[in-house]
Amino acid sequence: MTKMASLQPIRGTHDLLPDEMRAHRHVVGTARRIVELYGYEEIATPIFEFSQVFQRTLGEASDIVTKEMYSFADKGGDLITLRPENTAGVARCFISEGLAQQVPVRFFYAGPMFRHERPQKGRQRQFHQIGVELIGLAQPEADVEVIAAGVRVLDALGVLGKTVLEINTLGDHESRESYRQALVAYFGEHTAGLSEDSRTRLSRNPLRILDSKDEGDRRIVADAPLFADYLNPASVAFFDRVTAGLETLGIAFAPNPRLVRGLDYYSHTAFEFTTTALGAQGTVLAGGRYDGLIKMMGGSDTPGVGWAAGVERLAMLCGTAPAARRPVALVPVGAAAEAEAVKLAERLRASGLRVDLAYSGNLGRRMKRANRIAASASILIGDDELSRGAATVRNMDSGTQEEVALPSLEEFLAQYR
Ligand code: ATP
Ligand code: MG
Repeated sequence: MTKMASLQPIRGTHDLLPDEMRAHRHVVGTARRIVELYGYEEIATPIFEFSQVFQRTLGEASDIVTKEMYSFADKGGDLITLRPENTAGVARCFISEGLAQQVPVRFFYAGPMFRHERPQKGRQRQFHQIGVELIGLAQPEADVEVIAAGVRVLDALGVLGKTVLEINTLGDHESRESYRQALVAYFGEHTAGLSEDSRTRLSRNPLRILDSKDEGDRRIVADAPLFADYLNPASVAFFDRVTAGLETLGIAFAPNPRLVRGLDYYSHTAFEFTTTALGAQGTVLAGGRYDGLIKMMGGSDTPGVGWAAGVERLAMLCGTAPAARRPVALVPVGAAAEAEAVKLAERLRASGLRVDLAYSGNLGRRMKRANRIAASASILIGDDELSRGAATVRNMDSGTQEEVALPSLEEFLAQYR
């Protein structure tokens, strides 16, 4: 058989080996612990949904829908998409599980997302997100709460200082409509300089042009009308309350009138925590208000606000992964001791110790292994020790050792738990 290309991971996907997995668990575990303090409960939605769930909500002209979705017809002929993000899935869940009676609801999620993008540092085809959704609260205090929860998560991870909170408002429906008209007029005069993508966006959703990464587009965008000039008083008042709330909590932010989110369902507050520490992929946590989403999907008119953060990018920003828990190494010498060690290992694990037992090798090889796995202690059992009903415990950091009676091992080793 020839070597199979399929033995490579699919482009843009990665195996998470123990160090990386630990870094991910640190990010997810920290976030889970922090947002729980705010009342967010973890849920999980399926990693695939009917394509409609994403097509209708993310917007037919969004980058995700036009270019990035993994969609296929399954064996039953249903059109299925691997979730590119989780807000649409949570909204679908909110509707199909009939949660409208329970509002407000606060949900946290963590898991893999899939987007067919050009892989590069911080940009993968299977990546992981954590996120929160606060559904059922229309007031700006809700926006402040979710942003504060994001701040606390970044702070607990020790990366808040490396980020800037950029914030903007996309206004209410009426404001967006008058802004849309202004953009159509402006970009309509500059079609020659726009990328092909943006010319398509012009007719479908001109706001999206503001989010374009194309160089030429960006030059034209630089002089485009500002949203701030088209906001109605209600939208201005809403945004003022959000920023006032952030100030009350001492949360620093940088207004960015050019910030738009890539998806159709956003209104009012949009925000991103960005960093210069990760190169081109600078957004680590991003979100906003999505008051129209649940109704658009066929549910009751229910407001919502939330954010999602990239676990890979956060893990990179954190730097080195937290160390693995150190094991104690059992080092039996001789057949009788080896038999005893198997039973002893179970006993020690039952007491809460992480125990490593190599099944073969001489004393030298076993001690080498104990060093390589960074054991905190090694427990030597030879025939001599066994005849005395004892083991020699060596502290691997200090090198000191002492003989301990087998029945009191758990108690003695408590310091290594
Ligand atoms: P970008 O502008 O980097 O493409 P986005 O606006 O598409 O980001 P969101 O949909 O807001 O990203 O997703 C929230 C977060 O998820 C991002 O800020 C980022 O940290 C992470 N993320 C998004 N796409 C990817 C990807 N392909 N690989 C790794 N992380 C990603
Ligand atoms: Mg993207």
